[in-house]
Amino acid sequence: MLRIVVLGAAAGGGVPQWNCGCEVCRTARSAPSGLARTQASIAFSNDGHHWYLVNASPDLRQQLIATPQLHPKAGQLRHTPIAGVILTNAEIDAVVGLLSMREGSPFTIYGHPKVLAILKANSIFDVLNEKNVKRQDIEIDTAFEPPLPNGSPSGIEVLPFTVPGKGAWYLEGKAHPGGSSGTGDTLGLRIRDKTSGKYFFVVAACAEVTDDLKARLAGAALVFFDGTVWRDDELIASGLASKTGQAMGHIAMSGKGGAIEQLAGLDIDRKIFLHINNSNPALLSASAERSQLERAGWQIPADGTEIVL
Ligand SMILES: [Zn+2]
Repeated sequence: MLRIVVLGAAAGGGVPQWNCGCEVCRTARSAPSGLARTQASIAFSNDGHHWYLVNASPDLRQQLIATPQLHPKAGQLRHTPIAGVILTNAEIDAVVGLLSMREGSPFTIYGHPKVLAILKANSIFDVLNEKNVKRQDIEIDTAFEPPLPNGSPSGIEVLPFTVPGKGAWYLEGKAHPGGSSGTGDTLGLRIRDKTSGKYFFVVAACAEVTDDLKARLAGAALVFFDGTVWRDDELIASGLASKTGQAMGHIAMSGKGGAIEQLAGLDIDRKIFLHINNSNPALLSASAERSQLERAGWQIPADGTEIVL
């Protein structure tokens, strides 16, 4: 059995974002709107005792406080149920939470060599002493089984695969510590419980849905998918920023070639958007965009949403 908790569903900046006065952010500040979201991360477990995170957002501390499953075990002075963190990219909203996981508890960081090279090049991450916090390379299209803290098999199989995307924006125009060639900056994951055979996908950043990606996702019980923007020029049209979704490595939800259209007809039981930017009008529950999305069989999760497969 797989238990999955959506720790946060928002894109970088969260909802509301600290310096944003857009409609969504203003509404989110007027509690109790139910609109507020922390930055994207999920936790999963197949035994209810040991948990793995997909990405560690800057809101991780708050997310852990809000999630009883991830609290230290009763009666233990120092403990965490978190056995590992699997990084799908090196953006700020995927890695900064690692810094909140200092204080000496052992766990393992799993990432593509290009992503781990970025951490290695930033000495602030040395606060995670490699004696306690191992860093483990993962390879594209090579499944791995993250072990439990005692070294025994977890019974979970993680298959990383490449998806079209971009490297971390703060490296734009700079030398990539992991080298400029090859893929690995943006990964999707298939996460499978070896006992039950149940699996789900996490594709939190994706610039384009290729035929290969469609073939992978077809027939899945559950897919978390990049929901950054509703339309490609949304940040420009609303006067918030000068970049399109594509320029940031994110496919739009709507329109020709958008995620809703591209993932239609793939026989996916449950489709959930993740990494939703505060500019996205679909966050507003009474919006036409939200109705359109729900009619197409998609959901926008609240933080803390728990799913069992
Ligand atoms: Zn905003």
